[in-house]
Amino acid sequence: MAAKGPRESITLECTDCKRRNYLTSKNKRNNTERLEVVKYCKYCKKRTTHKETK
Ligand SMILES: [Zn+2]
Repeated sequence: MAAKGPRESITLECTDCKRRNYLTSKNKRNNTERLEVVKYCKYCKKRTTHKETK
């Protein structure tokens, strides 16, 4: 896979329990705003909103 543009590693944090559950990366050129994804949190045992953290 060829690297395109500046990719940044980010951590996704559950907004309910504040635990960092997911590691991912994003292209800063396409995504300038903070990432927000609904994912399953194993600590909350439900789907919650996960936000990008630094
Ligand atoms: Zn959680």
